Amino acid sequence: MDKQYLIKWLAILLSILTTGQLSSSLLEGEELKPFHWPNGKKAAVSLSFDDARLSQIDTGLALLKKEGVKVTFFVKPSGVEKRLAGWKQAVANGHEIGNHSLTHPCTGNYKFSRNNALENYNLAMMAQQLNGANELIYKQLGVKPRTFAYPCGQKFVGRGVDVKSYVPLVADRFLAGRGYLDEFGNDPLICDLAQAMGTGFDDMDFYRMKKIVDQAAQEGLWVIFVGHEIGKQGYQTTDSKAIENLCEYLKNPANGIWLGTVKEIATYIQRQRDKINPVGVSLKKSNKQDAKRLPN
Ligand SMILES: [Zn+2]
Repeated sequence: MDKQYLIKWLAILLSILTTGQLSSSLLEGEELKPFHWPNGKKAAVSLSFDDARLSQIDTGLALLKKEGVKVTFFVKPSGVEKRLAGWKQAVANGHEIGNHSLTHPCTGNYKFSRNNALENYNLAMMAQQLNGANELIYKQLGVKPRTFAYPCGQKFVGRGVDVKSYVPLVADRFLAGRGYLDEFGNDPLICDLAQAMGTGFDDMDFYRMKKIVDQAAQEGLWVIFVGHEIGKQGYQTTDSKAIENLCEYLKNPANGIWLGTVKEIATYIQRQRDKINPVGVSLKKSNKQDAKRLPN
C-alpha cells in the first residue's frame, strides 16, 4: 500500500470517528492534500500574554517594539483600565487584543477564585463573561476580540453530574480559544481551534523555549506560548532576555518559523482547511453544530 493511499484511508477512518459519517468527497476519490504553512515555513509560533498585567505594558511593549514582533494579549478589562493609554499604544503598535473573560473565573481551588468559582457557574453566566468582556474591550480600545484564552486553561462550569463544557460558547463567538499548560503544539489539520493548546513559557530559559520550537518545526505544528509578567525569570514571569533571544531565533529565516498572532495563524489554518482538506471541513462543521445545540 503506498503512503498516499494509507493517508487517505486513515483520513476516512478519522472522519467517521469524529463525525459519525462518511465524507462523500473522500469516497469520491478526492485527494487528501498535506497541510502547508505559507512561504515554505516549517511551523508556526504565536507569543501570547494573559491578564493585562502591568509589566506587559511597562516592560513588554518597548521590548516587543525593539524586536519588531507582534503578539496576542489576552486581556481582562479591569487590567486594561489600569494602563489605558499603554493598551491603546499596544493596539497602535499592531498587537492583537484577545478576550480573557470579564472577571477571570477559575476553579475555587485557587484561593483567588474562591468567590468566583467555575464550580458555581452555569452556561448563561459564562456567556455573560464572554459578551461583557467583548463589550468593555470595545469601549476601552475600539477593538472587537476574535480570539479567547480560557482563564487558568479551564473549560467547564458546574460540578459533578451538572458539569458542562463552555467550549461551544467560545466556538460560537470566536475564531479560536486557547488553553494553558497543555504541554504540546497544535496539529494544523486536526486541532480544534476552539480549544487550541497553549504552552506556558514563564520560568523558562531560551534553550527550553528553543527546544519546543525545534520540535514543532520537525512535526509541522503551531505552538502558542503563554506568559504572564514580563521581566526577570521567575514564577509567572517570562524572562525579558529569553524573549529577546526567542524573537531573534523565530525571525531568522534559516529556522523556517512563521511568527504570527493567534488570530493570523488561526485564520490561515481555517482557510487552508476549507481549501485543501475534507477532514478539516468536517471537523469545522461539527464545531458549528455543537455550538448551536447549546444556549449562548
Ligand atoms: Zn489569566
